[in-house]
Amino acid sequence: MHATEALAEADRLMTLCNSCRYCEGLCAVFPAMEMRREFADGDLNYLANLCHSCGACYYDCQFSPPHEFNINVPVVLAKVRADSYASYAWPASFSGLFERNGLTISIALAVSVAAFILLFGAVSGPSFFSAQTGALFYRIMPHQVMAALFSLAFIYAVVALVMGVRKFWRNIGAPSGPLQEPSSLWQAIKDAGKLRYLDGGGSGCVNEDEQAKDLRKHYHHATFYGFLLCFAATCVGTIYHYAFGWEAPYAWYDLPVLLGTLGGIGLIVGPAGLLAAKFRRARELQDEARFGMDVGFIAMLLLTSVTGILLLLLRETAAMNLLLALHLGVVFALFVTMPYGKFVHGIYRFVALVRYAQERGGEAAHG
Ligand code: SF4
Ligand code: SF4
Repeated sequence: MHATEALAEADRLMTLCNSCRYCEGLCAVFPAMEMRREFADGDLNYLANLCHSCGACYYDCQFSPPHEFNINVPVVLAKVRADSYASYAWPASFSGLFERNGLTISIALAVSVAAFILLFGAVSGPSFFSAQTGALFYRIMPHQVMAALFSLAFIYAVVALVMGVRKFWRNIGAPSGPLQEPSSLWQAIKDAGKLRYLDGGGSGCVNEDEQAKDLRKHYHHATFYGFLLCFAATCVGTIYHYAFGWEAPYAWYDLPVLLGTLGGIGLIVGPAGLLAAKFRRARELQDEARFGMDVGFIAMLLLTSVTGILLLLLRETAAMNLLLALHLGVVFALFVTMPYGKFVHGIYRFVALVRYAQERGGEAAHG
C-alpha cells in the first residue's frame, strides 16, 4: 500500500522494469532499482530523486504509450519527486504552499521586501532619489540592517533544508551519515559536479524532436556554477567588509564584482536556456501539474541575475536605489522560498547520489 497514486504507479513501473532491465546502462536509477525486489515509498522516493528526467528511457522503451503497459518512467518519477519535496518539507504545514503558485508568491514577497527597503531609504534622507555613488550604497539601508535581514533569511533556509534532508535520508533507508563514508561523498560530489546522469546514457538529453542533444545539461551547468559564483561573490564581499573594512560598492576589477559578474552571466544564460527548453520539451515528458513550480523557480533565478547585472551597470545613476531594493527583494524571496520549491531538487539528488555511491560501495559506476 502506497501513500499516493504516483507512488503506486512508480511501484508498478519499477516492478516491470525490474523484469525487463533493458535500460540498465542509461543512468543510476536502473542499477539502484535492480538492488531491490520490492519498492517501499522510501525506495521510490530515492529512485525518483536519482532520475534526472533526461527522457532516454521513454524513447528506448518498447512498452511506452501507446503500448498497453503505458510505461513512462520520466514523468512518473517526476511526479513522485515533486511530491517528495512536499512530504519532506519543514515545517510540514508549509509543504504545499508553493506547489501551484510559487512564482506569484515569490514575486509578491520580492516586491514587498523591495517596497520595505525603499520605504526605509525614503525616510532616511532627502537625497534618496538622486544619483548615488560610492559609500552612499548603504544610505538606502545600513549594512547591519541589511546583513541581519539576509542572515535571518539565509539561516532559515539552511535550517529548513537540513531538516528536510534529514527526513529524506532516514526515509530512503540510508544506514549511516554521509560523512561517515568519505569515498561515497566524494563520488557523489564528482557525479553531481559533472551532472553525470543528465546525459541519457552518454548520448545526451532527449529533446522535442526525439534527438539526443545535451543542451539541458549545459544550461544546468551554467545555472549551477553561476549560482555558486554568485554565492562566492557574496562570501568574499562579506570577508572584505568585516575582515578589511572595505565597503561596497567595489570597482569592476575587485573579486566580488568579477565573481558576481561571471556568476550573473551564468545565471542568465542557464535559466534562460532552461526556460526555453522547458517550453520546447515534448509534452509526453512533462509533468504538467508541476509546470508552474518549475517555471517559477527558473524565473526567480533569472530575475536575481538580471536585477544584479542591471544594478552593476546602473549603480552610478539615480536608478540605483530602485534596482538595489528590487535585487535585494528578489534575493530575499529566493532564499525564503528555497526549501519549498524546485531548488531542493539539486539537494535531494545529491543526497540520493551519496546513497547510491554507498550502495555501490563508493563506486557509482554504471553500464
Ligand atoms: S523503461 Fe521500458 S525498456 Fe526500459 S527497463 Fe523499463 S520496461 Fe524496460
Ligand atoms: S535519468 Fe533518464 S534514463 Fe534514467 S530514469 Fe530518468 S529519464 Fe530515464
